[in-house]
Amino acid sequence: MVANSNGKLAILGGEPVRRKAWHSWPKSDQLEEQELLTVLRSGKWGRFQGKDSAVERFEGSYAKLLGCKHVLATANGTSALFASLHAMGIGPGDEVVLSPYTFVATANVVLLNYALPIFCDSDLDSFQIDANKVASKITPRTALILPVHMAGCAANLDVILETAKAKGIPVLEDACQAHLGEWRGRKLGTWGAAGCFSFQASKNLNSGEGGVVSTNDSALYERAYSFHSAGRPLNPKPGGPSYVSNAANLRLTEFQGAILNAQMTRLETQSRIREENVRYLTGLLEKIPGIKPVRNYEGCTRSAWHLFMFRYEKEAFAGIERSVFLKALAAEGIRSSSGYQPLNKEVFLLRSLQSKGFKRIYGEKMLKEWSERNECPVNDKLCGQAAWFSQTMLLGGREDMDHIGEAIAKIQGQADALRGV
Ligand SMILES: *Cc1c(COP(=O)(O)O)cnc(C)c1O
Repeated sequence: MVANSNGKLAILGGEPVRRKAWHSWPKSDQLEEQELLTVLRSGKWGRFQGKDSAVERFEGSYAKLLGCKHVLATANGTSALFASLHAMGIGPGDEVVLSPYTFVATANVVLLNYALPIFCDSDLDSFQIDANKVASKITPRTALILPVHMAGCAANLDVILETAKAKGIPVLEDACQAHLGEWRGRKLGTWGAAGCFSFQASKNLNSGEGGVVSTNDSALYERAYSFHSAGRPLNPKPGGPSYVSNAANLRLTEFQGAILNAQMTRLETQSRIREENVRYLTGLLEKIPGIKPVRNYEGCTRSAWHLFMFRYEKEAFAGIERSVFLKALAAEGIRSSSGYQPLNKEVFLLRSLQSKGFKRIYGEKMLKEWSERNECPVNDKLCGQAAWFSQTMLLGGREDMDHIGEAIAKIQGQADALRGV
């Protein structure tokens, strides 16, 4: 039992359950400093080919970690997805089936390629794409299924891959939150034609910005490589062309490679700490009426726990709105987020679909019908109930988890007092 858990709610002037700061992020020491200095002093700051390249070294160790053939480092997770879509030939006229419960980048890369995003509703308990509804979203235009391993927990790959195989459509895994996550003992990001990871500052593996494409398909890897580096061939032939495709520059710098090589040595230990804390916290929160921690599929043998997600059912909290609950929680010293808004209803997305280019490709009538085709009622409900704790909060000790449990139980026990707040 933590002190103050039976006292007056902090939002109403009582003592907060917690005053301590949360676990700091990121962690670094002499290891990062050494790796960075080596790059600095080498004078080779941009990616180069050869075994001394920090980026190449990182690609090698990440590929080994995943157990896949190729890993291509990119400037960030968005560019990993962008390069993958290019390498898979996704373009105007194609439909891409994706989850509406994800970071905006998943949809942005579809729009960037002038393909049409088709949202498949979410599964309320797992927060993942409802794999059983994917088949109903497929048309003759569908060129890609793009599931997200939300929070680093796995989407239902058994059903998704079976559907994809039956329809002859490739799968790209958005594993940007799923470092070290597994499905049936094999790493996420290695099940589809390719996977994408992010090393943006908030992610479980961090170089400020960064990303990778993972794949076992050598031809796909070569195309992604060229796209990410001005269209240059991976293995230039004497007398051959300088450029083999239209492209961007999405290269990772040697500095970021250096940080990643150092951070990689911490990944496994940090992941185990999160797993242990999540196990304990889930046990605490399951006992509180109206709090529904995320439920993973049986096939998810390991989760990255990029986020700890749960649903808040206000009926068990005297009907008080989620926003008030989260404010009361913040007052108790527990940081949280209300998570994503429904992506399929974002104004920017609807505006993109009304743009000149989209109208030309898909026609006004088709785009008018788009909203109706893309309703996701379960996801709307999920977005209204969700709350998250960040991965960095899961890196502390058991006392931190106790504080979270105590604070939520305290609010639940006194929810009546929050009416009218
Ligand atoms: C972070 C993230 C991305 C994009 O990664 P960046 O490195 O921020 O570009 C894409 N998809 C999901 C699900 C993410 O969480």
